[in-house]
Amino acid sequence: MKIIDNKGAPPELVRAIVHEAELIHSVKRVIFDAFIKDLNGDLGAFNPTNGVIIIDLGNCLTNKSWMKKGFMFIANAWLNLLMTAFHELAHAAQLDLEPALANLDRLPQIYEDEATETAGIRVVNWTDEHPIPKLNELGWVGDQMKAIFNDLYFTMPDMVGEELDLEGTEIAAYAEQRAHTSREYSTEQETALLLKQIDDGMIGKKVGEKRYLTAYEAVAM
Ligand SMILES: [Zn+2]
Repeated sequence: MKIIDNKGAPPELVRAIVHEAELIHSVKRVIFDAFIKDLNGDLGAFNPTNGVIIIDLGNCLTNKSWMKKGFMFIANAWLNLLMTAFHELAHAAQLDLEPALANLDRLPQIYEDEATETAGIRVVNWTDEHPIPKLNELGWVGDQMKAIFNDLYFTMPDMVGEELDLEGTEIAAYAEQRAHTSREYSTEQETALLLKQIDDGMIGKKVGEKRYLTAYEAVAM
């Protein structure tokens, strides 16, 4: 498998991909780039006819799907990158098992769902074992985020300060927002229970008066 890095992919992402791809034969090349027109905003793609995975660092930076679930800004971008990589690798693994999939114009939804589910499990396992990389470890994506923080500093100093203070720690999500969109803690009582568990030191972390969850806790719930 060949890595073609046109922008500066996070080294940890490349490591995760190389490790995961070890036993997958259908992936021949992984290309990192940013804001690729043909992707139409998609975060990545796998082409079964030539075995090329594309990961769009730019779209992973700007897509806010994890933030909508209560994750912080740096965590959002990292989880997009990781989820995209594992999702596209899951498609390559599907092709290993069923080569005829390459003849289809469009992959049936069941294969999409399966790839997303597999990727979700990989992301949970990854966050169990690793901290989210720091800005300086995120390559091009980290540089973009630094520029964004500089721009935002005057209008949103608290948000920027919070991101930079917690950078490189286990903390990745705002507990209350995360609870609202989770399966386990979405009702008012369940959210209250989660916040109490944080106060009691059983889960998450309290910094001053603010309650957070670790990446692993927040991804798994
Ligand atoms: Zn897919």
